[in-house]
Amino acid sequence: MSATEFAKYRYLYGPVPSRRLGRSLGADIVPYKICSYDCIYCTLGRTTKLTSAPGRLINATDVIREIEQWLEQGGSADYITFAGSGEPTLNADLGEMIRATKKLTDIPLAVITNGSGLGEPEIREAVSMADVLLPSLDAGTDRAFQEVNRPVASVSFFGMREGLVQTAQQFPGQIWLEIMLVEGVNDSKAELHAMREIVRRVCPDKLQINTVERPSKSGDARRVPDETLLRACEILGNSAEIITNGVVAHTDSQQWREIEGELMRMLSRRPCTMSDIVAVSGRSIHEVTKHLQSLVQEELIEQIGDADPYYRSMTGG
Ligand code: SF4
Repeated sequence: MSATEFAKYRYLYGPVPSRRLGRSLGADIVPYKICSYDCIYCTLGRTTKLTSAPGRLINATDVIREIEQWLEQGGSADYITFAGSGEPTLNADLGEMIRATKKLTDIPLAVITNGSGLGEPEIREAVSMADVLLPSLDAGTDRAFQEVNRPVASVSFFGMREGLVQTAQQFPGQIWLEIMLVEGVNDSKAELHAMREIVRRVCPDKLQINTVERPSKSGDARRVPDETLLRACEILGNSAEIITNGVVAHTDSQQWREIEGELMRMLSRRPCTMSDIVAVSGRSIHEVTKHLQSLVQEELIEQIGDADPYYRSMTGG
């Protein structure tokens, strides 16, 4: 399926090559950027609506119709992944979407979540139908939790931790826990030992250690050195795997180059905000963000501002 064909989907993106999930078709089920966290490492920028209250954010029927259409056109992937430009469990219709998708296909379903809502029985019930749950755990103490995840006041460290443990005890599928390490914030030995206690209670099927791919614009989030990643694996257990570098293996992808060419042409005509680019390109914000970041890193374009930033070409074209 070509990149152009994909532009017609509003909520689907990919399939993208993902180190964690192989070829994964993403379903972006939360508008930009509704989240219960405002993580210092977030690649999507600052959270614009900080909340822990699920709501009817994106119509379930529209998402299911797109998945149906994609399947009818011969779509194939290793996973269909419910994620979002924010926290997918804040979509109150997540359970309905998973249930309906399971009726349409045998492709395994994954849900990527920050885990903050797993203390709520309705959210545990909604995700229970997924094949794989990929929650985050970035802190072993409340201090680090507040500093890394900057949660909405209604989400406590205790509630997050116990929700995660309770989910792990009940969830019938696989749990792949991801820990994102940020230099000087949650990478101390004491913090890693505190996380180990939680990891032992969760007993995930996979434990994946990640770090910041590149410094955040504010400079608050920095990548940890390789030796810290290795130390984290030693402390957290032999089953831990490092997944940084290669979350999206895109360097030789024809589709990736086509999309970047399209964005460069758009920005060479005039500077555009993130919302403009999403609206004009017909792509999900998730997908657009990844490409824009890559172009910023290559210094082909410049990002100005953080909340709905705008972008301009630096090539003068
Ligand atoms: S939970 Fe995810 S979307 Fe929300 S702020 Fe953190 S990294 Fe960003």
